[in-house]
Amino acid sequence: MRIEEHPILTFEKKKKVEFLFDGHKVWGYEGEPIAAALHANGVRVLRRSAKLNRPRGFYCAIGNCSSCFMTVNGEPNVRTCVAKLEQGMVVETQKGKGDLSTAKIKPLSPSTSEIRKAEIAVIGGGPAGLSAAVSANQMGAKVTLLDRNSKLGGQLVKQTHKFFGSEEEYASIRGIDIANVLANKFDKKKTDIMLDAPVLGYYREDGILGAEQNNKFIKIKAKKIIIATGASERVLAFPNNDLPGIYGAGAAQTLMNEHGVVPGSNVLMVGAGNVGLIVSYQLMQAGVNVKAIIDAAPRITGYWVHASKVRRLGIPIYTSYTVKEAHGKENLERATIWRLDENWQPIKGTEIDLDVDVMCIAVGLSPLNELLWQAGCQMKYIPELGGHTTLKNEDMETSVKGIYVAGDVAGVEEATSAMVEGSLAGLCAAKSLGYDNGRFKELRQEAINHLETLRSGPISQGIRKGLEQAIIT
Ligand SMILES: Cc1cc2nc3c(=O)[nH]c(=O)nc-3n(C[C@H](O)[C@H](O)[C@H](O)COP(=O)(O)OP(=O)(O)OC[C@H]3O[C@@H](n4cnc5c(N)ncnc54)[C@H](O)[C@@H]3O)c2cc1C
Repeated sequence: MRIEEHPILTFEKKKKVEFLFDGHKVWGYEGEPIAAALHANGVRVLRRSAKLNRPRGFYCAIGNCSSCFMTVNGEPNVRTCVAKLEQGMVVETQKGKGDLSTAKIKPLSPSTSEIRKAEIAVIGGGPAGLSAAVSANQMGAKVTLLDRNSKLGGQLVKQTHKFFGSEEEYASIRGIDIANVLANKFDKKKTDIMLDAPVLGYYREDGILGAEQNNKFIKIKAKKIIIATGASERVLAFPNNDLPGIYGAGAAQTLMNEHGVVPGSNVLMVGAGNVGLIVSYQLMQAGVNVKAIIDAAPRITGYWVHASKVRRLGIPIYTSYTVKEAHGKENLERATIWRLDENWQPIKGTEIDLDVDVMCIAVGLSPLNELLWQAGCQMKYIPELGGHTTLKNEDMETSVKGIYVAGDVAGVEEATSAMVEGSLAGLCAAKSLGYDNGRFKELRQEAINHLETLRSGPISQGIRKGLEQAIIT
Protein backbone atom coordinates (compact mmCIF):
# COMPACT_ATOMS: atom_id res chain seq x y z
CA MET A 1 0.00 0.00 0.00
CA ARG A 2 1.27 3.46 -0.86
CA ILE A 3 1.48 6.23 1.74
CA GLU A 4 -0.89 9.03 0.77
CA GLU A 5 -0.33 11.33 3.75
CA HIS A 6 2.68 11.63 6.01
CA PRO A 7 3.40 14.15 8.80
CA ILE A 8 6.97 14.83 7.57
CA LEU A 9 7.49 13.46 4.09
CA THR A 10 5.92 14.17 0.73
CA PHE A 11 6.38 11.62 -1.99
CA GLU A 12 6.94 12.96 -5.44
CA LYS A 13 4.52 11.31 -7.87
CA LYS A 14 6.69 10.24 -10.77
CA LYS A 15 5.52 9.01 -14.15
CA LYS A 16 3.32 5.91 -13.97
CA VAL A 17 4.58 2.96 -15.98
CA GLU A 18 3.16 -0.46 -16.77
CA PHE A 19 5.10 -3.69 -16.48
CA LEU A 20 4.46 -7.41 -16.55
CA PHE A 21 4.76 -9.45 -13.38
CA ASP A 22 4.50 -13.21 -14.05
CA GLY A 23 2.36 -12.38 -17.07
CA HIS A 24 0.02 -9.94 -15.28
CA LYS A 25 -0.05 -6.26 -16.13
CA VAL A 26 0.70 -4.08 -13.09
CA TRP A 27 1.87 -0.50 -12.60
CA GLY A 28 4.44 1.42 -10.63
CA TYR A 29 6.37 4.67 -10.74
CA GLU A 30 9.22 5.01 -13.17
CA GLY A 31 12.58 4.70 -11.43
CA GLU A 32 11.34 3.26 -8.15
CA PRO A 33 12.78 -0.13 -7.15
CA ILE A 34 10.94 -3.01 -8.80
CA ALA A 35 10.40 -4.68 -5.40
CA ALA A 36 8.79 -1.50 -4.01
CA ALA A 37 6.40 -1.34 -6.97
CA LEU A 38 5.52 -5.01 -6.48
CA HIS A 39 4.98 -4.45 -2.77
CA ALA A 40 2.61 -1.61 -3.55
CA ASN A 41 0.73 -4.12 -5.72
CA GLY A 42 0.50 -6.54 -2.78
CA VAL A 43 3.24 -8.87 -4.09
CA ARG A 44 5.75 -10.00 -1.47
CA VAL A 45 7.00 -13.32 -2.84
CA LEU A 46 9.80 -12.42 -5.24
CA ARG A 47 11.66 -15.68 -5.66
CA ARG A 48 11.84 -19.34 -4.63
CA SER A 49 14.83 -20.79 -2.82
CA ALA A 50 17.23 -22.97 -4.79
CA LYS A 51 16.83 -26.26 -2.94
CA LEU A 52 13.55 -26.29 -1.01
CA ASN A 53 11.50 -23.97 -3.21
CA ARG A 54 10.67 -21.79 -0.23
CA PRO A 55 9.15 -18.35 -0.84
CA ARG A 56 11.45 -15.36 -0.42
CA GLY A 57 10.79 -11.65 -0.14
CA PHE A 58 13.34 -8.87 0.15
CA TYR A 59 15.31 -8.46 3.37
CA CYS A 60 17.77 -5.55 3.22
CA ALA A 61 16.24 -3.18 0.61
CA ILE A 62 19.65 -1.62 -0.09
CA GLY A 63 21.19 -4.17 -2.46
CA ASN A 64 23.27 -6.06 0.09
CA CYS A 65 21.69 -9.54 0.04
CA SER A 66 20.24 -11.98 -2.49
CA SER A 67 16.77 -12.30 -1.00
CA CYS A 68 15.05 -10.22 -3.70
CA PHE A 69 16.66 -11.79 -6.80
CA MET A 70 14.19 -11.93 -9.70
CA THR A 71 14.41 -12.47 -13.43
CA VAL A 72 14.00 -9.15 -15.23
CA ASN A 73 13.79 -8.97 -19.02
CA GLY A 74 15.29 -12.47 -19.13
CA GLU A 75 18.22 -11.65 -16.86
CA PRO A 76 18.31 -13.68 -13.63
CA ASN A 77 19.61 -12.58 -10.22
CA VAL A 78 18.55 -8.95 -10.57
CA ARG A 79 18.48 -7.23 -7.16
CA THR A 80 14.96 -5.89 -7.40
CA CYS A 81 15.19 -3.97 -4.11
CA VAL A 82 17.42 -1.48 -5.96
CA ALA A 83 16.92 -2.17 -9.70
CA LYS A 84 14.89 0.65 -11.19
CA LEU A 85 11.48 0.11 -12.77
CA GLU A 86 11.03 0.95 -16.46
CA GLN A 87 8.03 0.97 -18.77
CA GLY A 88 7.32 -2.46 -20.29
CA MET A 89 9.68 -4.49 -18.11
CA VAL A 90 9.04 -8.21 -17.89
CA VAL A 91 9.51 -9.28 -14.28
CA GLU A 92 9.32 -12.90 -13.21
CA THR A 93 9.46 -14.74 -9.89
CA GLN A 94 12.82 -16.45 -9.95
CA LYS A 95 12.89 -20.15 -9.23
CA GLY A 96 16.19 -21.45 -7.95
CA LYS A 97 19.54 -20.09 -8.99
CA GLY A 98 18.55 -18.59 -12.31
CA ASP A 99 19.70 -20.01 -15.62
CA LEU A 100 22.61 -18.03 -17.00
CA SER A 101 22.99 -20.23 -20.10
CA THR A 102 19.77 -18.90 -21.63
CA ALA A 103 19.86 -15.50 -19.95
CA LYS A 104 19.58 -12.38 -22.05
CA ILE A 105 22.30 -10.34 -20.44
CA LYS A 106 23.68 -7.15 -21.82
CA PRO A 107 27.39 -7.52 -21.05
CA LEU A 108 29.29 -4.64 -19.51
CA SER A 109 31.17 -2.72 -22.15
CA PRO A 110 34.72 -3.93 -21.86
CA SER A 111 36.98 -1.55 -20.10
CA THR A 112 39.18 0.53 -22.31
CA SER A 113 42.84 0.57 -21.46
CA GLU A 114 42.23 4.04 -20.05
CA ILE A 115 42.70 4.23 -16.31
CA ARG A 116 41.12 7.21 -14.59
CA LYS A 117 43.43 8.90 -12.17
CA ALA A 118 42.22 10.21 -8.82
CA GLU A 119 43.96 11.87 -5.91
CA ILE A 120 41.62 10.50 -3.25
CA ALA A 121 38.88 8.01 -4.09
CA VAL A 122 36.13 7.87 -1.49
CA ILE A 123 33.90 4.80 -1.72
CA GLY A 124 30.50 5.46 -0.20
CA GLY A 125 28.53 8.70 -0.03
CA GLY A 126 26.97 8.18 3.40
CA PRO A 127 27.72 10.48 6.36
CA ALA A 128 31.27 9.07 6.66
CA GLY A 129 32.18 9.32 2.96
CA LEU A 130 30.59 12.76 2.52
CA SER A 131 32.46 14.14 5.52
CA ALA A 132 35.71 12.58 4.28
CA ALA A 133 35.30 14.25 0.89
CA VAL A 134 34.46 17.63 2.42
CA SER A 135 37.45 17.64 4.77
CA ALA A 136 39.87 16.42 2.07
CA ASN A 137 38.58 19.27 -0.13
CA GLN A 138 39.13 21.76 2.68
CA MET A 139 42.79 20.70 2.86
CA GLY A 140 43.04 21.27 -0.91
CA ALA A 141 42.85 17.72 -2.27
CA LYS A 142 40.76 16.55 -5.23
CA VAL A 143 38.27 13.78 -4.55
CA THR A 144 36.46 11.21 -6.66
CA LEU A 145 33.45 10.02 -4.66
CA LEU A 146 31.64 6.88 -5.78
CA ASP A 147 28.31 5.57 -4.55
CA ARG A 148 26.20 2.73 -5.87
CA ASN A 149 23.03 4.74 -5.13
CA SER A 150 21.46 7.44 -7.27
CA LYS A 151 21.66 9.97 -4.47
CA LEU A 152 24.09 10.91 -1.75
CA GLY A 153 23.44 10.41 1.95
CA GLY A 154 23.76 6.67 2.63
CA GLN A 155 21.32 5.62 5.33
CA LEU A 156 20.56 9.25 6.23
CA VAL A 157 18.13 9.53 3.32
CA LYS A 158 15.51 7.58 5.27
CA GLN A 159 16.08 8.99 8.75
CA THR A 160 13.23 11.36 9.44
CA HIS A 161 14.12 11.87 13.11
CA LYS A 162 16.00 14.91 14.37
CA PHE A 163 19.59 14.45 15.51
CA PHE A 164 20.75 15.28 19.06
CA GLY A 165 23.88 16.90 20.37
CA SER A 166 25.50 20.19 19.48
CA GLU A 167 25.22 22.47 16.46
CA GLU A 168 28.27 20.90 14.83
CA GLU A 169 26.57 17.50 15.27
CA TYR A 170 23.58 18.81 13.30
CA ALA A 171 21.33 18.83 16.37
CA SER A 172 17.63 19.36 15.57
CA ILE A 173 18.20 18.65 11.87
CA ARG A 174 16.52 15.59 10.41
CA GLY A 175 18.80 12.91 8.97
CA ILE A 176 17.13 13.35 5.57
CA ASP A 177 18.33 16.98 5.49
CA ILE A 178 21.89 16.42 6.77
CA ALA A 179 22.92 14.75 3.52
CA ASN A 180 22.02 17.95 1.62
CA VAL A 181 23.87 20.12 4.13
CA LEU A 182 27.01 18.01 3.64
CA ALA A 183 26.64 17.83 -0.13
CA ASN A 184 26.51 21.64 -0.26
CA LYS A 185 29.87 21.86 1.50
CA PHE A 186 31.74 20.24 -1.39
CA ASP A 187 34.14 22.23 -3.42
CA LYS A 188 32.47 21.40 -6.74
CA LYS A 189 35.67 22.11 -8.67
CA LYS A 190 37.60 19.65 -6.56
CA THR A 191 35.06 16.83 -6.43
CA ASP A 192 34.01 14.35 -9.06
CA ILE A 193 30.85 12.63 -7.87
CA MET A 194 30.03 9.31 -9.50
CA LEU A 195 26.54 8.07 -8.62
CA ASP A 196 24.97 4.74 -9.64
CA ALA A 197 28.57 3.56 -9.61
CA PRO A 198 29.15 0.49 -7.44
CA VAL A 199 32.77 -0.34 -6.79
CA LEU A 200 33.01 -3.99 -7.75
CA GLY A 201 36.50 -4.78 -6.63
CA TYR A 202 39.96 -3.70 -5.64
CA TYR A 203 42.80 -5.27 -7.59
CA ARG A 204 45.70 -5.43 -5.19
CA GLU A 205 48.47 -6.14 -7.66
CA ASP A 206 47.89 -2.89 -9.55
CA GLY A 207 46.16 -0.94 -6.78
CA ILE A 208 43.18 -0.39 -9.06
CA LEU A 209 39.52 0.00 -8.19
CA GLY A 210 36.99 -1.47 -10.63
CA ALA A 211 33.62 0.28 -10.78
CA GLU A 212 30.54 0.03 -12.96
CA GLN A 213 28.62 2.99 -14.31
CA ASN A 214 26.19 3.23 -17.24
CA ASN A 215 26.92 -0.40 -18.11
CA LYS A 216 30.62 0.36 -18.43
CA PHE A 217 33.48 -1.09 -16.43
CA ILE A 218 35.71 1.73 -15.20
CA LYS A 219 39.21 1.42 -13.76
CA ILE A 220 40.35 3.98 -11.22
CA LYS A 221 43.85 4.42 -9.90
CA ALA A 222 43.80 6.57 -6.80
CA LYS A 223 46.74 7.82 -4.79
CA LYS A 224 44.73 7.32 -1.60
CA ILE A 225 41.49 5.43 -0.96
CA ILE A 226 38.92 5.99 1.77
CA ILE A 227 36.52 3.07 2.22
CA ALA A 228 33.23 4.21 3.77
CA THR A 229 30.82 1.52 2.58
CA GLY A 230 28.71 1.30 5.75
CA ALA A 231 27.06 -1.82 7.12
CA SER A 232 24.31 -4.33 6.49
CA GLU A 233 21.56 -5.56 8.76
CA ARG A 234 21.93 -8.86 10.55
CA VAL A 235 19.48 -11.74 10.45
CA LEU A 236 18.15 -13.69 13.43
CA ALA A 237 17.88 -17.49 13.60
CA PHE A 238 14.43 -18.98 14.36
CA PRO A 239 12.13 -21.39 12.49
CA ASN A 240 10.70 -19.81 9.32
CA ASN A 241 12.87 -16.70 9.58
CA ASP A 242 12.92 -16.56 5.76
CA LEU A 243 9.19 -15.95 5.26
CA PRO A 244 8.28 -12.94 3.13
CA GLY A 245 7.13 -10.24 5.54
CA ILE A 246 10.23 -10.62 7.72
CA TYR A 247 12.53 -7.71 6.95
CA GLY A 248 15.49 -5.88 8.34
CA ALA A 249 14.08 -2.90 10.25
CA GLY A 250 16.12 -0.56 8.05
CA ALA A 251 14.56 -2.22 5.00
CA ALA A 252 11.07 -1.41 6.25
CA GLN A 253 12.33 2.14 6.86
CA THR A 254 13.71 2.35 3.31
CA LEU A 255 10.45 1.08 1.82
CA MET A 256 8.36 3.58 3.79
CA ASN A 257 10.48 6.70 3.99
CA GLU A 258 12.28 6.53 0.65
CA HIS A 259 9.74 4.84 -1.57
CA GLY A 260 6.45 5.73 0.13
CA VAL A 261 5.17 2.17 0.47
CA VAL A 262 4.18 0.60 3.79
CA PRO A 263 5.48 -2.91 4.52
CA GLY A 264 2.13 -4.24 5.86
CA SER A 265 -0.48 -3.68 8.56
CA ASN A 266 0.65 -5.18 11.88
CA VAL A 267 4.27 -5.31 12.95
CA LEU A 268 6.38 -7.11 15.53
CA MET A 269 9.64 -5.20 16.04
CA VAL A 270 12.51 -7.38 17.23
CA GLY A 271 15.12 -5.23 18.96
CA ALA A 272 14.73 -2.27 21.33
CA GLY A 273 17.94 -0.52 20.31
CA ASN A 274 17.83 2.85 18.56
CA VAL A 275 17.00 1.48 15.11
CA GLY A 276 14.17 -0.71 16.48
CA LEU A 277 12.69 2.15 18.51
CA ILE A 278 13.04 4.78 15.79
CA VAL A 279 11.63 2.58 13.04
CA SER A 280 8.69 1.59 15.28
CA TYR A 281 7.85 5.26 15.73
CA GLN A 282 8.19 5.88 12.00
CA LEU A 283 5.94 2.92 11.19
CA MET A 284 3.22 4.43 13.40
CA GLN A 285 3.74 7.80 11.67
CA ALA A 286 3.08 6.05 8.36
CA GLY A 287 -0.16 4.57 9.71
CA VAL A 288 1.15 1.04 10.41
CA ASN A 289 0.24 -0.62 13.70
CA VAL A 290 3.20 -1.81 15.78
CA LYS A 291 1.85 -4.56 18.04
CA ALA A 292 4.94 -4.95 20.20
CA ILE A 293 8.66 -4.37 20.48
CA ILE A 294 10.68 -7.18 22.02
CA ASP A 295 14.31 -7.46 23.04
CA ALA A 296 16.27 -10.46 24.27
CA ALA A 297 18.25 -8.21 26.62
CA PRO A 298 16.79 -7.55 30.06
CA ARG A 299 16.70 -3.81 29.35
CA ILE A 300 16.01 -1.37 26.55
CA THR A 301 19.30 -0.71 24.80
CA GLY A 302 18.29 2.38 22.78
CA TYR A 303 18.08 5.96 24.02
CA TRP A 304 15.31 6.63 26.56
CA VAL A 305 14.06 9.55 24.51
CA HIS A 306 13.20 7.16 21.65
CA ALA A 307 11.75 4.57 24.05
CA SER A 308 9.53 7.20 25.70
CA LYS A 309 8.19 8.29 22.31
CA VAL A 310 7.02 4.77 21.42
CA ARG A 311 5.70 4.15 24.93
CA ARG A 312 3.60 7.32 24.64
CA LEU A 313 2.06 5.82 21.50
CA GLY A 314 1.03 2.80 23.58
CA ILE A 315 3.41 0.27 22.00
CA PRO A 316 4.32 -2.38 24.60
CA ILE A 317 8.04 -3.17 24.99
CA TYR A 318 8.82 -6.67 26.25
CA THR A 319 12.40 -7.10 27.46
CA SER A 320 13.91 -10.60 27.95
CA TYR A 321 11.76 -11.87 25.07
CA THR A 322 12.76 -13.43 21.77
CA VAL A 323 11.09 -14.99 18.74
CA LYS A 324 10.25 -18.66 19.13
CA GLU A 325 8.83 -19.16 15.65
CA ALA A 326 7.24 -17.45 12.68
CA HIS A 327 4.16 -18.96 11.04
CA GLY A 328 2.71 -18.74 7.55
CA LYS A 329 2.75 -20.53 4.22
CA GLU A 330 3.65 -17.96 1.58
CA ASN A 331 3.80 -14.91 3.85
CA LEU A 332 4.20 -14.18 7.54
CA GLU A 333 0.83 -14.60 9.27
CA ARG A 334 1.70 -14.98 12.95
CA ALA A 335 4.66 -14.94 15.32
CA THR A 336 5.25 -16.68 18.63
CA ILE A 337 7.51 -15.00 21.16
CA TRP A 338 8.73 -16.38 24.48
CA ARG A 339 10.48 -15.16 27.59
CA LEU A 340 14.16 -15.74 28.40
CA ASP A 341 15.55 -16.47 31.86
CA GLU A 342 18.62 -14.77 33.34
CA ASN A 343 20.82 -17.21 31.35
CA TRP A 344 19.05 -16.22 28.11
CA GLN A 345 17.32 -19.63 27.93
CA PRO A 346 13.67 -19.71 26.77
CA ILE A 347 11.06 -20.50 29.41
CA LYS A 348 8.41 -22.99 28.27
CA GLY A 349 4.84 -21.87 28.94
CA THR A 350 5.62 -18.15 28.46
CA GLU A 351 4.72 -18.15 24.74
CA ILE A 352 2.64 -15.29 23.36
CA ASP A 353 1.10 -15.45 19.87
CA LEU A 354 0.90 -12.25 17.87
CA ASP A 355 -1.11 -11.82 14.67
CA VAL A 356 1.39 -9.91 12.55
CA ASP A 357 2.05 -9.75 8.83
CA VAL A 358 5.38 -7.95 9.25
CA MET A 359 8.33 -8.68 11.51
CA CYS A 360 11.20 -6.22 11.55
CA ILE A 361 14.58 -7.48 12.70
CA ALA A 362 16.66 -4.78 14.39
CA VAL A 363 19.40 -6.81 16.03
CA GLY A 364 22.40 -4.90 14.82
CA LEU A 365 24.56 -4.35 11.78
CA SER A 366 27.71 -5.90 10.35
CA PRO A 367 30.40 -3.92 8.51
CA LEU A 368 30.23 -4.14 4.68
CA ASN A 369 33.86 -5.17 4.57
CA GLU A 370 34.42 -6.97 1.23
CA LEU A 371 36.71 -4.29 -0.20
CA LEU A 372 38.82 -4.35 2.96
CA TRP A 373 39.32 -8.11 2.62
CA GLN A 374 40.17 -7.72 -1.08
CA ALA A 375 42.71 -5.02 -0.31
CA GLY A 376 44.43 -7.33 2.15
CA CYS A 377 43.83 -5.10 5.17
CA GLN A 378 44.52 -6.81 8.47
CA MET A 379 41.10 -7.93 9.70
CA LYS A 380 39.84 -8.98 13.12
CA TYR A 381 36.56 -10.30 14.49
CA ILE A 382 35.47 -7.78 17.10
CA PRO A 383 31.88 -8.45 18.25
CA GLU A 384 31.62 -5.01 19.91
CA LEU A 385 32.16 -3.39 16.48
CA GLY A 386 29.66 -5.60 14.66
CA GLY A 387 31.91 -8.41 13.38
CA HIS A 388 34.93 -8.52 11.10
CA THR A 389 36.51 -5.16 10.66
CA THR A 390 39.92 -3.79 9.90
CA LEU A 391 42.67 -2.66 12.23
CA LYS A 392 43.54 1.02 11.83
CA ASN A 393 45.71 3.72 13.36
CA GLU A 394 44.58 6.97 14.97
CA ASP A 395 44.47 8.62 11.50
CA MET A 396 42.01 5.95 10.26
CA GLU A 397 44.66 4.40 8.02
CA THR A 398 44.56 0.60 7.73
CA SER A 399 47.46 -1.83 7.67
CA VAL A 400 47.62 -1.24 3.88
CA LYS A 401 49.34 2.09 3.43
CA GLY A 402 47.17 4.62 1.66
CA ILE A 403 43.87 2.87 2.41
CA TYR A 404 41.76 4.59 5.03
CA VAL A 405 38.38 3.68 6.57
CA ALA A 406 35.55 5.60 8.19
CA GLY A 407 32.06 5.02 9.51
CA ASP A 408 30.20 1.76 10.06
CA VAL A 409 32.63 -0.26 7.95
CA ALA A 410 35.31 0.60 10.50
CA GLY A 411 33.08 -0.59 13.35
CA VAL A 412 29.32 -0.12 13.66
CA GLU A 413 28.39 2.95 15.69
CA GLU A 414 26.08 5.73 14.55
CA ALA A 415 25.89 8.58 12.05
CA THR A 416 27.53 11.32 14.14
CA SER A 417 30.68 9.32 14.87
CA ALA A 418 30.69 8.20 11.22
CA MET A 419 30.83 11.88 10.16
CA VAL A 420 33.67 12.70 12.54
CA GLU A 421 35.65 9.61 11.52
CA GLY A 422 35.08 10.60 7.89
CA SER A 423 36.43 14.10 8.53
CA LEU A 424 39.49 12.65 10.25
CA ALA A 425 40.17 10.19 7.41
CA GLY A 426 39.73 12.93 4.79
CA LEU A 427 42.08 15.30 6.58
CA CYS A 428 44.78 12.67 7.09
CA ALA A 429 44.57 11.25 3.55
CA ALA A 430 44.93 14.78 2.13
CA LYS A 431 47.80 15.61 4.45
CA SER A 432 49.64 12.44 3.40
CA LEU A 433 49.56 13.84 -0.15
CA GLY A 434 51.14 17.04 1.07
CA TYR A 435 47.98 19.18 1.33
CA ASP A 436 47.53 21.41 4.32
CA ASN A 437 45.44 24.57 4.61
CA GLY A 438 47.42 25.56 7.67
CA ARG A 439 44.90 24.09 10.09
CA PHE A 440 45.60 20.38 9.76
CA LYS A 441 47.02 19.82 13.24
CA GLU A 442 44.23 21.73 14.93
CA LEU A 443 41.45 20.05 12.89
CA ARG A 444 42.91 16.57 13.39
CA GLN A 445 43.07 17.09 17.15
CA GLU A 446 39.54 18.51 17.20
CA ALA A 447 38.22 15.40 15.43
CA ILE A 448 40.08 13.05 17.78
CA ASN A 449 38.75 14.95 20.83
CA HIS A 450 35.25 14.97 19.38
CA LEU A 451 35.29 11.19 18.91
CA GLU A 452 36.52 10.76 22.47
CA THR A 453 33.65 12.87 23.80
CA LEU A 454 31.07 11.02 21.70
CA ARG A 455 32.33 7.70 23.07
CA SER A 456 32.70 8.77 26.68
CA GLY A 457 29.29 7.77 28.07
CA PRO A 458 28.31 4.43 29.69
CA ILE A 459 26.33 3.46 26.57
CA SER A 460 29.59 3.46 24.54
CA GLN A 461 31.44 1.10 26.86
CA GLY A 462 31.28 -1.73 24.30
CA ILE A 463 32.48 0.54 21.48
CA ARG A 464 35.45 1.68 23.56
CA LYS A 465 36.35 -1.94 24.31
CA GLY A 466 36.02 -2.85 20.63
CA LEU A 467 38.10 0.08 19.40
CA GLU A 468 40.93 -0.78 21.78
CA GLN A 469 41.23 -4.11 19.95
CA ALA A 470 41.17 -2.47 16.51
CA ILE A 471 44.00 -0.02 16.91
CA ILE A 472 47.35 -0.31 15.11
CA THR A 473 49.91 1.52 17.17
C1 LIG B 1 19.50 0.06 6.88
C2 LIG B 1 19.99 0.98 7.98
C3 LIG B 1 19.09 1.82 8.66
C4 LIG B 1 19.54 2.65 9.67
N1 LIG B 1 18.62 3.45 10.34
C5 LIG B 1 19.06 4.26 11.32
C6 LIG B 1 18.14 5.10 12.04
O1 LIG B 1 16.95 5.11 11.78
N2 LIG B 1 18.64 5.92 13.01
C7 LIG B 1 19.97 5.96 13.32
O2 LIG B 1 20.37 6.73 14.19
N3 LIG B 1 20.84 5.16 12.66
C8 LIG B 1 20.43 4.31 11.70
N4 LIG B 1 21.33 3.52 11.03
C9 LIG B 1 22.74 3.64 11.39
C10 LIG B 1 23.40 4.88 10.76
O3 LIG B 1 22.66 5.31 9.67
C11 LIG B 1 24.78 4.55 10.34
O4 LIG B 1 25.53 4.38 11.53
C12 LIG B 1 25.43 5.62 9.46
O5 LIG B 1 24.65 5.87 8.32
C13 LIG B 1 26.82 5.14 9.06
O6 LIG B 1 27.33 5.95 8.06
P1 LIG B 1 28.30 5.40 6.95
O7 LIG B 1 28.61 6.55 6.06
O8 LIG B 1 29.39 4.66 7.58
O9 LIG B 1 27.44 4.31 6.16
P2 LIG B 1 26.13 4.44 5.25
O10 LIG B 1 25.26 5.54 5.68
O11 LIG B 1 25.56 3.07 5.23
O12 LIG B 1 26.72 4.82 3.82
C14 LIG B 1 27.48 3.90 3.08
C15 LIG B 1 27.35 4.25 1.61
O13 LIG B 1 28.24 3.43 0.88
C16 LIG B 1 27.62 3.02 -0.33
N5 LIG B 1 28.28 1.79 -0.77
C17 LIG B 1 28.38 0.61 -0.11
N6 LIG B 1 29.10 -0.26 -0.83
C18 LIG B 1 29.46 0.37 -1.98
C19 LIG B 1 30.23 -0.01 -3.11
N7 LIG B 1 30.79 -1.22 -3.22
N8 LIG B 1 30.39 0.88 -4.11
C20 LIG B 1 29.86 2.14 -4.02
N9 LIG B 1 29.12 2.55 -2.95
C21 LIG B 1 28.94 1.68 -1.95
C22 LIG B 1 26.17 2.84 0.06
O14 LIG B 1 25.33 2.94 -1.06
C23 LIG B 1 25.96 4.00 1.04
O15 LIG B 1 25.49 5.15 0.40
C24 LIG B 1 20.90 2.67 10.02
C25 LIG B 1 21.80 1.85 9.33
C26 LIG B 1 21.36 0.99 8.33
C27 LIG B 1 22.35 0.08 7.59
